[in-house]
Amino acid sequence: MEDFDKCEKCGGEIEYRRVDRVHCCFCKNCDWNLVTTYLPELDENTYSILS
Ligand SMILES: [Zn+2]
Repeated sequence: MEDFDKCEKCGGEIEYRRVDRVHCCFCKNCDWNLVTTYLPELDENTYSILS
């Protein structure tokens, strides 16, 4: 998994959460977020949800 020190969008502080295979990181300052899901049959599938 890639680690993000800062928000790609605004440079704000990133908060991480991990539940089972799902890693979420989101900006405390704006609406940027990233969800990374690990699937057994795939290496990893990363997608970004931007509103
Ligand atoms: Zn941000």
